[in-house]
Amino acid sequence: MSLTAERLDRIQPSLTIAISTVARRMIAEGKNVISLSQGEPDFDTPRNVKDAAIRALENGETKYTDVSGTPALRRAVAQKFARDSGIEYKPEEIIISTGAKQVLFNAMLATLNAGDEVIIPSPCWVSYPDIVTLADGKPVLVPCGQNNGFKLRAEDLEAAITPNTRWFMLNNPCNPTGAGYSADDLRPICDVLLRHPHVWVLTDDIYDSLAYAGFKPSTIVAVEPKLQDRTLTVHGVSKAYAMTGWRIGFAGGPVALIKAMDKLQSQSTSNPNSIAQAAAIEALTGQQETVETMRRVFEQRRDLVVGLLNQAPGMNCTNPDGAFYVYPSIHGCIGKTSAGGKLIKDDEAFALALLDEAGVATVHGAAFCYPGYVRISYANATEELQEACSRIRRFCEGLH
Ligand code: PLP
Repeated sequence: MSLTAERLDRIQPSLTIAISTVARRMIAEGKNVISLSQGEPDFDTPRNVKDAAIRALENGETKYTDVSGTPALRRAVAQKFARDSGIEYKPEEIIISTGAKQVLFNAMLATLNAGDEVIIPSPCWVSYPDIVTLADGKPVLVPCGQNNGFKLRAEDLEAAITPNTRWFMLNNPCNPTGAGYSADDLRPICDVLLRHPHVWVLTDDIYDSLAYAGFKPSTIVAVEPKLQDRTLTVHGVSKAYAMTGWRIGFAGGPVALIKAMDKLQSQSTSNPNSIAQAAAIEALTGQQETVETMRRVFEQRRDLVVGLLNQAPGMNCTNPDGAFYVYPSIHGCIGKTSAGGKLIKDDEAFALALLDEAGVATVHGAAFCYPGYVRISYANATEELQEACSRIRRFCEGLH
């Protein structure tokens, strides 16, 4: 008899975490590896946030809290959604969880029955399809081509909806492509959703403060308030405030859904970490200048990386609107052989050969359900990015 449940065989370990782990191990072994595979800012958590955590610790805020989070943090999240997204939520329409990942997990596990379909535009974040699968749902991937800036077309959404569709999941701006949706981009998508009242909407806006060159991402409920009673707006402090390790994510949505997620969370992790919750209040309500400082640095890096990667033969990199990833096509490299003699038969072979021969860790596109590309995170120091891009270019020049 197998040790593991059949449920576990349906999913794969997170490939982004797997590659980052290999890269970290190679670095620990003394190898000269630059890891562009991680999904976290290289900045430190802002000082005011750390101080708030220290104060919470000293004040004895070390006990269980309400499952859905402290009333003070839920109020802070409601204010944040009103201030940054233009959506009004009452504190009882908010839940705090151990990272946005747990929010997604709770939402799917609390609502999906076997065979329910979840529409996911691809390329998509690695965890979406696996979370849906774990919850007995069926991911329905809708490809979004590079020729449309990796954005979902309303007609493709319409065509993917069936009577079994339970959710539509949108990530804006998107990991791995950086594609972002403005209010104008979302309008036709909202019009499709209005025509299909049985479809619920999950919008993952975790990267929305990282938007570049005047691009302004919007969000479903802000564009179409009529969708508020079936939309879950997901966010968190991990990316905008460089707080990945603190594990605080949150969402606003209809009370009945929030209550269902609370019920589930009460029997799994209970409340998220009390000290991290206190720190998150400061992140959301304290000074916001560090967010802008980080955003500006990311924008400079984006420009640098896109420019350099487009000089690498065989690569073609679209300029992303937000987040801290680029998703260059490597179609021009496939079928060639590397200087070290490896056949680049697909994006995985490309990423492995690049790591082995050039010491640069990226994540292959198949991990994001969209092969033929690699994801490069530019959440690294500028000098490191310059060196990594030179190595990538030399690697590509060496293909024959
Ligand atoms: N959503 C997207 C699109 C992400 O890229 C990530 C992390 O990489 C998450 C959610 C999870 O974030 P958290 O650290 O809050 O669990």
